[in-house]
Amino acid sequence: MLTIHDKTFVPFIAAHEIQQRITALAAQINADYRDKQPLMVVILNGAVLFAADLFKQLTMPCEITFLRVSSYQKTGSTGQLKQVLGLSEPITDRDIIVVEDIVDTGLTLADVCEQLRESRPATLKVATLLFKPEALKRPLDLDYVGFDIENRFVVGYGLDYDGLGRNTQDIFVLSE
Ligand code: 5GP
Repeated sequence: MLTIHDKTFVPFIAAHEIQQRITALAAQINADYRDKQPLMVVILNGAVLFAADLFKQLTMPCEITFLRVSSYQKTGSTGQLKQVLGLSEPITDRDIIVVEDIVDTGLTLADVCEQLRESRPATLKVATLLFKPEALKRPLDLDYVGFDIENRFVVGYGLDYDGLGRNTQDIFVLSE
């Protein structure tokens, strides 16, 4: 069990299952990008642990960079928009793999992909460790998915509850 602030979390996905799944995803990516030099674009902060473990298992020449998504949401004709911040690497004509920790409503990733596509990458694919299919609000192509999970709140292995809980090897779920 894990207690963070006022909440209790119970074990959900064990470290060895996570690592096994990452090995399988890496094998897929290694096959798909065999003759390429992809640029992994990691969404901070939650995806850092997943991205690091995945990156270590890639065998082609590969680069890594990071971006942040604003919590600031501006309203306009398109409604709310999360903005991409701090991407320092040019992505035009590059083979981009966006790495996310978890896709919930999918709104964050949809905004990120839309903004990255404006820079005309050669290809853009998405890898997420976790996916909550029931929560999805916008259609999204997810190319590499670690685990489909039910619509419950999880922490650990990079994912936080109010800033804490990221530094575990296992993933935990909020106790019901
Ligand atoms: P979306 O835009 O897909 O609804 O949300 C994506 C972001 O919400 C994730 O990158 C993550 O920061 C946060 N999030 C969504 N579901 C969970 C969850 O179950 N646990 C934690 N810790 N964060 C979540």
